[in-house]
Amino acid sequence: MNYFIEVIVPLSLPKTFTYKVSENEFAYIKKGMRIAVPFGKNKIYTALAIDLHQDAPTLYEAKEIHQILDEKPIVNEFQINHWFWIASYYMCNIGDVYRGALPSALLLESETIISQNKETFVDETAFTDDEFLIYEALQNQSSLNVQNIIDILNKKTVLPVIQKLINKNIISLQEEIQEEYKPKLVKYIRLNEQYQKEENLIHLLDSLKSEKRKNVLLQYFQLNAGEKKPISVKQLTESAQTSAAIVKALVDKQIFDEYFIQEDRVNFDKNKIENDLVLSQAQQQAFDEIETSFSTKEVCLLHGITSSGKTEIYTKLIENYISEGKQVLYLLPEIALTTQLVARLTQHFGNKVSVFHSKYSNNERVEVWNNVNQNSDSAQIVIGARSALFLPFSNLGLIIVDEEHEQTFKQQDPAPRYHARDAAIVLANAHQAKVLLGSATPSIETYYNANSEKFGLVSLTERFGKVQMPEIELVDLKDSYFRKKMKGHFSLTLIEEITEAFANNEQVILFQNRRGFSPVLECMTCGHVPQCPQCDVSLTYHKYKNQLRCHYCGYSMAKPTNCHVCSSVDLETKGFGTEQIELELAELFPQRNIKRMDQDTTRGKYSFEKIIDSFKNREIDVLVGTQMLAKGLDFDNVSLVGIMNADNMLYHPNFRAFERSFQMMTQVAGRSGRAEKRGKVIIQTYNPLHNIIQQVTNNDYEGMYKEQLYERKIYYYPPFYRLIKLTLKHRDFDKLKEGSMWLYQVLQQNLTIPVLGPEEPAIGRIRNEYIRTIMIKMPGDASIQGTKKTIQKILNSFDLVSQYRTIKVTVNVDFY
Ligand code: ADP
Ligand code: ZN
Ligand code: ZN
Repeated sequence: MNYFIEVIVPLSLPKTFTYKVSENEFAYIKKGMRIAVPFGKNKIYTALAIDLHQDAPTLYEAKEIHQILDEKPIVNEFQINHWFWIASYYMCNIGDVYRGALPSALLLESETIISQNKETFVDETAFTDDEFLIYEALQNQSSLNVQNIIDILNKKTVLPVIQKLINKNIISLQEEIQEEYKPKLVKYIRLNEQYQKEENLIHLLDSLKSEKRKNVLLQYFQLNAGEKKPISVKQLTESAQTSAAIVKALVDKQIFDEYFIQEDRVNFDKNKIENDLVLSQAQQQAFDEIETSFSTKEVCLLHGITSSGKTEIYTKLIENYISEGKQVLYLLPEIALTTQLVARLTQHFGNKVSVFHSKYSNNERVEVWNNVNQNSDSAQIVIGARSALFLPFSNLGLIIVDEEHEQTFKQQDPAPRYHARDAAIVLANAHQAKVLLGSATPSIETYYNANSEKFGLVSLTERFGKVQMPEIELVDLKDSYFRKKMKGHFSLTLIEEITEAFANNEQVILFQNRRGFSPVLECMTCGHVPQCPQCDVSLTYHKYKNQLRCHYCGYSMAKPTNCHVCSSVDLETKGFGTEQIELELAELFPQRNIKRMDQDTTRGKYSFEKIIDSFKNREIDVLVGTQMLAKGLDFDNVSLVGIMNADNMLYHPNFRAFERSFQMMTQVAGRSGRAEKRGKVIIQTYNPLHNIIQQVTNNDYEGMYKEQLYERKIYYYPPFYRLIKLTLKHRDFDKLKEGSMWLYQVLQQNLTIPVLGPEEPAIGRIRNEYIRTIMIKMPGDASIQGTKKTIQKILNSFDLVSQYRTIKVTVNVDFY
């Protein structure tokens, strides 16, 4: 008798592979276990068993496996089915999905390099002999690869030992950098309540003997009189030129009270559970409606305006599923948002909450994976960005997709290019679980699905605590420039409002949808604009580093002193970005603390959180930023939001540009006036009468939706048509041109639906590769699977044309 297993290998290959196993192995192996297999020349990969059978492959001789890595399956059938669905729907290889789904520490292969995790306490006595040998070797060498370990242990089957050491956190994969960020708690002080009474205070001042302490107290009054802001210990020690010990002494004497602004963080205690979450009447009604909707529909959209308290509704709902012993997955568009959310959910659910995302170390991810796989208590609720969708859930009850309109839910590169919201709906279906989509500005497609009764729809139109929506004021830039009512890029209206916010000790957010100082440097004599040598884009001027940089490939050069074409020294910067706003603002308000938040300032692992934290702690007066600011952040002291230029969002060559502009402006505006006071938003624009600007101003989502839907219908866009984008790349311009024409023509001849292109995109060359795109539009009534099969066949034959074989083609389904 012959025994075989069918495996997925973690390589970009469309097929599964057959390996030979012994009768014993056959009896032992279960679907979902990892099996190390030889593949290609002398390489070992971690494959996944997905089937056991007795059919020898017809096209090749089955090899024997290398070894079995697991004692129990670490992947279940829900996942395997879901991964095949992803591969088929998004037209990618099953190997791509597998590789993207598993934390890399579970995918050991012959090239894997490991090193010791210095942070972990090591108990040498608990090691097995093999473990000890590896550990010992790592004392002499900073890293080892799998081959080294094979030599050290003098045997071939080493991966299980390595895996055990990873599970124990003793070693990590080399490529990761360990970094940790704990939100810092800024200590503030205020006068103890008893000294609010003047007589007590006078008495206190008389009784204080130490001059140092008296001085600190007087300094406190001075600070308190000037700015009605919370006073931090740091601030006080600096201005009184004293030490923290003196302040501490005053705290001990109960003259000052210490406190922290981030109350939720202070209470961040995993074992303390607060249960007093009470929904407002409007929230309760929305909650009831969601439940009703779930009795007949699988998916429900919660359309709740900014600050309506959607998170609280999610929390109540989660409670229900948890109490039935179900697992809950909570997807967020941006991992930077998890810190806030984890604090909130942990307060409520204690240690039932786990977090999973790509910035977590490999070992942490393996831990969460295992916890979910064992359906353990600590992973009943998993919060994560899109990749959390791949975890081994066996008992999902509910998936929440918060800020469902966010484009970050779509993975662009590499494959699998899946949309986490859509893939979540499919996954939930398999588990017979429910999906709640939440947004203040739903995507057109989702709202369409809700309106056509495919999804349930629940609206929440009131902010929590009946806070008013911010007042939006438009400033006509054309008019303001004409009347000289501008300073740099700031209208006098905006300057006035900022001044007023400062006078009230409130914070300000300024939004500019572009990073860098100013997009381009232009020669005033000949008009030349320096371009990236590797991409077809103008270089961006960064004043801080005095550089020109390419935002596509990272190329940079020092700012030239004269024009490379005509040698003129008359060079000027055109346009403006976040960096310039920051500089102009610093000139207008030199006393104020201004910070910028964009891709340039948030590159480090936790830099985003750090900026958000110090803004929340009120150490920053103004935050200047790009669209990162639009993502569901909750600030309680922002009374003004300024949108510096609404127009550059509107004119993007993308069918979603208007929808996105509406979403972005509405979301940024929503950061204003969260607390007791009505917030203000100033939008500076050249087109105050533009429909989108008007819809934002009037908070008219319906109006925006109807208008956009009409456009989508007449121009063949989603939700009426589904789009597939093919991107072709090659260094040889002519070859690419020819190849893309060939492909276009074959598609055109074989499909009865619109095929557009081949088009040179707005940026026609990146990193020295030329780019062409072809777009296929599938009407709602077409057989999607059939069409995709035809496309795949054509792509396969394109690959066989020898002169085009080197052209890279990527397929992006629902690329928007
Ligand atoms: P959204 O996500 O809809 O924009 P949030 O969930 O961030 O709104 O809620 C806005 C603010 O209102 C938060 O500070 C939140 O803590 C508070 N809040 C909302 N609902 C409640 C509630 N039922 N009880 C107490 N505070 C609430
Ligand atoms: Zn010139
Ligand atoms: Zn470039």
